[in-house]
Amino acid sequence: ASSRSEKEKAVNVQVLLRCRPFSEDELRNNAPQVVTCNEFQKEVAVSQAIAGKQFDRVFTFDKVFGPSAKQKDLYEQAITPIVNEVLEGFNCTIFAYGQTGTGKTYTMEGECRRAKNGPKGQLPLNAGVIPRAVKQIFDALECQHTEYSVKVTFLELYNEEITDLLAPEELSKIALEDKQKKQLPLMEDGKGGVLVRGLEEEIVTSADEIFSLLERGSSKRRTAETLLNKQSSRSHSLFSITIHIKEATPEGEELIKCGKLNLVDLAGSENISRSGAREGRAREAGEINKSLLTLGRVITALVEHLGHIPYRDSKLTRLLRDSLGGRTKTCIIATVSPSVHCLEETLSTLDYAHRAK
Ligand code: ADP
Ligand code: MG
Repeated sequence: ASSRSEKEKAVNVQVLLRCRPFSEDELRNNAPQVVTCNEFQKEVAVSQAIAGKQFDRVFTFDKVFGPSAKQKDLYEQAITPIVNEVLEGFNCTIFAYGQTGTGKTYTMEGECRRAKNGPKGQLPLNAGVIPRAVKQIFDALECQHTEYSVKVTFLELYNEEITDLLAPEELSKIALEDKQKKQLPLMEDGKGGVLVRGLEEEIVTSADEIFSLLERGSSKRRTAETLLNKQSSRSHSLFSITIHIKEATPEGEELIKCGKLNLVDLAGSENISRSGAREGRAREAGEINKSLLTLGRVITALVEHLGHIPYRDSKLTRLLRDSLGGRTKTCIIATVSPSVHCLEETLSTLDYAHRAK
């Protein structure tokens, strides 16, 4: 029995690798390809020339998605079962991790809304994990004929400071700077989780309503970046959907199932590059390092079943404490570019992601 439960624990962290296609720029410059995906073997090979010789390093993941994999493929093969868990009343977290420009936001968000004249109730082909998860959740809830409620929060973490992306206030520089000064504090909720005091929780009744909130939050994020000279690659965004479903037991008792899905678009991993030359910049971005590095340590501790899990060491891991480890499911989607120009960062992404396995 103990080996079975070990196994069950072990599969609770899943690591996927996605390699995007060449960009137009890379194609125009004839950038050599150094990453080869073998989806069937779940392997990624990176070729490096050292002293004129070719060497391949091969990494294995739970799933591998090559440049021709579609949003739908990734979702159906890897995310559908996770969202089913959430509908069963569990907390789950999906991260996108990788160098800036490798497809984290494309994978998590992509395109949310169908064209105005597109077929009703259908998502665009480019829709990423968030819109697909929202659709799966509402499709499931709407045919259950039970009472339910859905609420969402959307926040940004920049330099270990939390900004509410759904707060309704105006987007002037003054208002934002003011907001910046009174950051939302994190507090223990006494049930093992944390609360962000003052965070807007929107109750939603349809997928479309969530898409509007997503758009509002994303545009607020972009405005704040411009006004406050933030570097978007250094911030994490956390979109959470909480569902409550009322159920009756066979004995006629009422039961409330509560599940939460966290969708995290992490800061660019180049900020935690191992390269010593970047130390100055890395220190300047130190607070981001903190959340990204701590996340790595938390996941390693979970995967290796260490006694102490350092949740408390960063805001991100405190925020996600009730959704990482235990009976929850975690999925890390590591994203890379196929091009030789990203080789160093690709290797460090593969190393980080691989350690999480
Ligand atoms: P990140 O969020 O990691 O910085 P983006 O998601 O913004 O990266 O992706 C960078 C560019 O590459 C965008 O123009 C995006 O549309 C494109 N892209 C990323 N992944 C894919 C993919 N799998 N298929 C097609 N285009 C992609
Ligand atoms: Mg992005």
